[in-house]
Amino acid sequence: MKVTAQEISERGFSISFEIATPWARSAAATAMEGAVSALRGEINIRRYQSDLAVTGEVMVAASRTCDRCGGDVTLTIDGPLELTYVPNLRGEISPGGTRELVSSELDLGLYKEGSLDLSLVLQEHLALQLPWRVTCDLPNVSPSGEACDPNLLKPPERGPDPRWAALAALVPDASEEN
Ligand SMILES: [Zn+2]
Repeated sequence: MKVTAQEISERGFSISFEIATPWARSAAATAMEGAVSALRGEINIRRYQSDLAVTGEVMVAASRTCDRCGGDVTLTIDGPLELTYVPNLRGEISPGGTRELVSSELDLGLYKEGSLDLSLVLQEHLALQLPWRVTCDLPNVSPSGEACDPNLLKPPERGPDPRWAALAALVPDASEEN
């Protein structure tokens, strides 16, 4: 879902979306790293010369698993969206728009070829709001069962991290020695 800078008139550009909006649902699922169960929002864009001020409201709920107990949870991100995009004109920035971000630039994005991809706007907004660790006790996390104990150190009913299996396979007899 791309909007060209030219399309954004003096009055600005607005779009709303919900769970049946394919681009928004797909972008939300990517950013949330899980199936989206609820989504609604609105994005407004205003242009100041070549800079784009993007504001709006987004509510999304997605299925995740608790990083502590492994239980199924619903993670909700609900709140205002506020991002600023500037044209990608500087030669040292790669075509992919990737470069190291300093903290003051975290809410400053780049758009290229005169158009802004709203899927990326939504993804960037959600990525900035995501908790670094999803656990049952967070206020925006609803466990499907009982919330786990925040003091729980070892997840119950789970085998070793599957990544260790690949390592163990490299060491002959590793499984027999223990
Ligand atoms: Zn948990």
